[in-house]
Amino acid sequence: MVILDGALATELERHGANLSDPLWSAKCLLESPELIRKVHLDYFRAGAQVATTATYQATFEGFAGRGIEHEGAARLMLEAVSLAREARAEFCADLPSGLSPRPLIAASVGPYGAMRADGSEYRGHYGLSDRQLAEFHRPRLEVLARSGADVLAFETLPCLQEALVLAGLLTEHPGMTAWLCFSCRDGAHNSEGEEIGRCAQALRDYSQIAAIGVNCTAPEHLPELLERMRERASQPLVAYPNSGQRYDPEAKRWVGQAAPAFSEQAVQWVRAGARLIGGCCRTTPADIRALSQAFG
Ligand SMILES: [Zn+2]
Repeated sequence: MVILDGALATELERHGANLSDPLWSAKCLLESPELIRKVHLDYFRAGAQVATTATYQATFEGFAGRGIEHEGAARLMLEAVSLAREARAEFCADLPSGLSPRPLIAASVGPYGAMRADGSEYRGHYGLSDRQLAEFHRPRLEVLARSGADVLAFETLPCLQEALVLAGLLTEHPGMTAWLCFSCRDGAHNSEGEEIGRCAQALRDYSQIAAIGVNCTAPEHLPELLERMRERASQPLVAYPNSGQRYDPEAKRWVGQAAPAFSEQAVQWVRAGARLIGGCCRTTPADIRALSQAFG
């Protein structure tokens, strides 16, 4: 089992950051990078074996909207990876030598919809060609693949089209691997409505995709989604749902109730085949500590 971390953006907000902004967690890269380092460190200390960087919504297009040119934007993306590495170094320095393996840094690659900041990563149907999607993703992938991150996290993808574009682009970086996760609308379909087992089947032959699964989805859908993927996937499964609350992109706030006992639900994800588990939006270091104690 690999224990991933929990939410970054909502955890930054809990510490007082104001992220009501198209750049979302990437805004913190500009304003309070020290807070990002602190949240990474909190997750390592809670038992996370992986830190996912603050690059989900860090895009050239998003930064350009703030007057930050290409080179400056690339520097901020690299800075996000450095903050996670610094937190790892601090965490490891406190450990008795040789005890536990060094945690990994996963560079987050959010979907095209995240750049639009309109919730379309939970709807899909972008209306773009493969080529247009590749043109959006390629420049950031070039930065993050050489950033010093150990792995890439293609996450919250609403549709198979974007997954296949990213898996294809990854072959331009033969030394790099990624995990790939869909956002899903129910127990059977990704956000765009494609059957999730079929998505797993389509990704079987991409050897650089080290794990596939589901993130930022209501936890109650996870067992069925994972069962469907397990039947068709060649890779290990990864699961990091949100807390059960739902983001309302129009009101720009979280609605509904958090699922009780996040880590108790995780028993079912593991039973359904998940080998990498963690939390997405609204989960906290306490959730990750509970996962780590139960499965780490
Ligand atoms: Zn999320």
